Amino acid sequence: MKTIYFDNNATSKTAEEVLREMEPFFCELYGNPSSMHTFGGQISRYIRKARHQVADLLGCDESEVIFTSGGTESDNAAIKGVLAAIPQRRKIITTRVEHPAVLTTCRELANQGYNVVEISVDKLGRLDMDELEKQVDDNTAIVSIMYANNETGVLFPIEEISELVSSRGVVFHTDAVQVVGKMPLNLSKSKIDLLSLSGHKLHGPKGIGVLYIRKGTRIAPFILGGHQESGKRAGTENVPSIVGIGKACEIAGKYIEDENTRVKYLRDKLENGILQSCPDSRINGDKGNRLPNTTNISFEFIEGESILLLLDKFGICASSGSACTSGSLEPSHVLRAMGVPFTAAHGSIRFSLSRYNSEEEVDFVLEKLPPIIERLRQLSPFVAGK
Ligand code: PLP
Repeated sequence: MKTIYFDNNATSKTAEEVLREMEPFFCELYGNPSSMHTFGGQISRYIRKARHQVADLLGCDESEVIFTSGGTESDNAAIKGVLAAIPQRRKIITTRVEHPAVLTTCRELANQGYNVVEISVDKLGRLDMDELEKQVDDNTAIVSIMYANNETGVLFPIEEISELVSSRGVVFHTDAVQVVGKMPLNLSKSKIDLLSLSGHKLHGPKGIGVLYIRKGTRIAPFILGGHQESGKRAGTENVPSIVGIGKACEIAGKYIEDENTRVKYLRDKLENGILQSCPDSRINGDKGNRLPNTTNISFEFIEGESILLLLDKFGICASSGSACTSGSLEPSHVLRAMGVPFTAAHGSIRFSLSRYNSEEEVDFVLEKLPPIIERLRQLSPFVAGK
């Protein structure tokens, strides 16, 4: 059975060109870039090239690119690194809809005595800018707000937010894991101080990421040991993956237009087709202001997990906005923060596309999904009249 992969916000296929670029760094060019001998020392030039490729996509200086083990590490490092550098400030501002890499970190810091403020969103997932403006004060060490939401694709006005935060002399971090490679960025022209990205969301390898650190940003080293990564993140470099994320960034730059035209067209066709053929379905999130590849759709009165299981029988991969915790199905914290009604939040499905998807795949889903929804509705105890 062919796999139809519409779960690219969870992870994405490693591009073949990326894999080919990485291969020599396992059994041929396996030296340690810190070694004195030529065999090892020559490796540092491939790391420099990768740093250049990442910097090119971000529109920043190579010295501002620090390789990490992924988005989660970058998020943790940004927040904890700034708190360590500015110990006199005890307040952290974030949002209610962040990825757990940020939210869990902040809630743990709250347990340790930090004052953590989570800004709310409205029913379309838009940030409460007035609340943010009121909260940024002299005690704030860092504001960490995601660029785009991984579940709904909703984009926050990051340029506006970074201007505001910077004008108050506070460090601004953004989790751009879902944005890099999908939207053009030019960090040299922005007020973003710290930005996280992850290799496996942009057709690079897993277990590699980047923390962009604007020159002059107050942040303490986050892994101590050797001198690697300007002394900020010690440890022998993961050379194959660094080479891989560099190549993935280079290729991603060339596909940004495709992402915003062809991939967006496929997403819109899928979304409109579903809304037309499935009664009581609705989009979650601000339709006009989203990533081009993501749609989050609620099917009232049925459970997302049941839809996923039936889609899975046809090889269709998507994801649901619920997480199974302690035997009960908890709707996603993002949809709850948006005030999506219980009956709709439980039946939410995220489809996230990529450059590897085709129109035939969209047509296949549009053929298979409506009968699944109809069948589950017939079985649902919540449907009116039952
Ligand atoms: N931040 C966001 C918005 C994400 O979507 C993800 C992954 O799902 C992460 C952070 C974590 O990235 P990684 O899997 O590289 O640790």
